[in-house]
Amino acid sequence: MYHSLWQTVLGEIELSVSRASYLTWFKNTDLLDVSDGKAVIGVPNIFTKQQLEVKFAEQIGTMLVKNGANVSKVTFKISSGGTKRKPNTSTAKKPANSTLSIADITTTAQQQTSHNITTRRAGNGLNAKFTFDNFIVGSSNDLAYSACQAVAQHPGTKYNPLFIYGGVGLGKTHLMQAAGNEMLRQNPKAKILYTSIETFVNDFLESIRFKKKGFADRYRTVDMLIIDDMQFIAGKEKTQEEFFHTFNALHQADKQIIISSDKPPKAIPTLVERLRSRLEWGMAIDIQSPDFETRCAILQAKAAQQTGAEIDHATVEYLATHVQTNIRELEGALNQLLAFCEMRRLPISVETATGLMGDMKTVRPAHLSSRQVVQTVAKHYQVELTDIMSPKRDKHIVMPRQVAMYLLRSELHMSFPKIARELGRKDHTTAIHSIEKVEKGLKLDYLLQQQLKAIREQLYA
Ligand code: ADP
Ligand code: MG
Repeated sequence: MYHSLWQTVLGEIELSVSRASYLTWFKNTDLLDVSDGKAVIGVPNIFTKQQLEVKFAEQIGTMLVKNGANVSKVTFKISSGGTKRKPNTSTAKKPANSTLSIADITTTAQQQTSHNITTRRAGNGLNAKFTFDNFIVGSSNDLAYSACQAVAQHPGTKYNPLFIYGGVGLGKTHLMQAAGNEMLRQNPKAKILYTSIETFVNDFLESIRFKKKGFADRYRTVDMLIIDDMQFIAGKEKTQEEFFHTFNALHQADKQIIISSDKPPKAIPTLVERLRSRLEWGMAIDIQSPDFETRCAILQAKAAQQTGAEIDHATVEYLATHVQTNIRELEGALNQLLAFCEMRRLPISVETATGLMGDMKTVRPAHLSSRQVVQTVAKHYQVELTDIMSPKRDKHIVMPRQVAMYLLRSELHMSFPKIARELGRKDHTTAIHSIEKVEKGLKLDYLLQQQLKAIREQLYA
């Protein structure tokens, strides 16, 4: 009975979002119910639910109201209507709050990317292909996403500088570029400059060597300065000095500064103190590796973008399970699969993916044994293997032991009793507690994140 209302709403949404977004997130949706001011939208799976909640709830609400529905809340429900697929309930976790009040969020309908910018803008370093619209939000990057949106909407006022850090291929460049593109969309006259710190360094050195003018002007007269991969400023004292002055000039004029780095300011070595403290003035947010749900959502979106169609769910889950490192690798795996299937005229399926993944470096080597995992951990922390396996409770041994248990679970999917036994424990609850402890630690402890990254790299080297 809501069919025509929903079709009208969909029609409007289709005009305001990119084709890939529309195909991926709206195609199999349905308006199930409107009552007591609440609209219930049926969606095919948890990934769609997540994305719609985070990015489109407000817009959907606005469109429903505009078309006469008396709605103040939009909720999403996984329903099988309109799709054959079942949600993957074993791995899908329920988002904490699936009811979003429209009044809670700002009222203007953000037309995510209504003008499709297709060309690269010369001079400002921005690449139009990076937008908020085609950025998939999950729990690993939602804070960074919101912060970048906030500075694009209110440059120079909210978080200044905004400092985004995290490992390679996790979307830092994408998000910062999206912030620049969005600010430019809202204010086409805005002067924005995106540059890697290396370009900044080279420009600076050149300006000294050839006594070139215009360096300071180029960087100090913009409305938004985006500096990528700040970690490479380490050790370059003269450049740090210069950047310090650039920073001050912009900051005093309330111009927005966005910086990315692979580590937080305090972990960048040989950074002069006064610059470090400036970098810590604003907001520092990390991006973590995407969880399973987000990896699936990214794959679905990218597949739709490239093929104009969805690929089947089992294949998506297969890829998401086997490529866990970062989003660049995930994209790589997908592209490889799509290209392979096109060339050989094969259907995109788990079978094809399985065949292909055998060649991929990212897949877990079959020969990785539990003993190897424990050994690698021991070696990383420079403790004796016998100590890790012993009942000793010394702090410098307990922590590596917990990490070893965590990795046996995350990499080899071993059961808790097996993990306990592998480390010489009788009681499997020890394993459970240890793993939980590391999981919690990973949320907050940057050092621990880095250690695990290093150990994983060792394991899969
Ligand atoms: P980083 O700068 O952190 O190394 P990038 O921003 O270059 O990472 O991201 C690597 C690739 O993955 C890019 O093609 C980017 O568009 C894509 N990507 C990263 N995160 C996301 C996301 N959340 N949604 C969609 N694409 C993403
Ligand atoms: Mg980058």
